Amino acid sequence: MSGTVFVLSAPSGGGKTSLVHAVLKRLAKLTLSISYTTRPQRKEEENKVHYHFVTVAEFQAMLTQDTFLEHAKVFDNYYGTSRLMVEKSLNAGEDVLLEIDWQGAVQIKQKIPNAVMIFLLPPSIEILRERLEHRGMDSPQVIAKRIAQAMAEMKQYHRFDYLVVNDNFEQAVDDLQNIIQAQRLGRAYQQQHLAALLTRLGL
Ligand code: 5GP
Repeated sequence: MSGTVFVLSAPSGGGKTSLVHAVLKRLAKLTLSISYTTRPQRKEEENKVHYHFVTVAEFQAMLTQDTFLEHAKVFDNYYGTSRLMVEKSLNAGEDVLLEIDWQGAVQIKQKIPNAVMIFLLPPSIEILRERLEHRGMDSPQVIAKRIAQAMAEMKQYHRFDYLVVNDNFEQAVDDLQNIIQAQRLGRAYQQQHLAALLTRLGL
């Protein structure tokens, strides 16, 4: 039995992380992939919980060992998804949620065509800016760079299957949950989960 990969991408400041944790609390059998990154650890982050923090040399060594299902350079840092972790969860019948940028999302879709691609949009550029400023961890120059980057990222929205607007938090959590649940009611998914019923029904 194998699970489904859900890819969630959003421009930075899109509020993706709190959304993801709310959805993980609500749904069983959903695992969040913990990426590897060369980005410096922020003070509220924990190694192996938010990311596996590694050096550039370590990341490059992992690349040569084909460790990553996808990888990308975002804001001058490298990020990658562990192939092993994803395969293990899928083989255990868990769905896997990848919180990655659009470049990584494109690689996943190429490798796993039935991956479900979700893009999170902010309700406005002003709100995106406020959210970035509110985080209080970046300088004005970094914020300006991140907004420009966010605009470029948002232009990639057409590559995704679903668009969710992160305006009202609860609504966005509901939307994400509904996308995952709809997928779980799909025939391909149900044929695996309802095998016993289908047999009893003589189908
Ligand atoms: P942050 O450094 O703010 O946590 O993340 C910066 C960007 O990198 C976000 O868009 C995030 O989704 C993306 N990202 C995080 N992990 C991965 C990953 O494993 N692969 C790719 N391609 N992007 C990632």
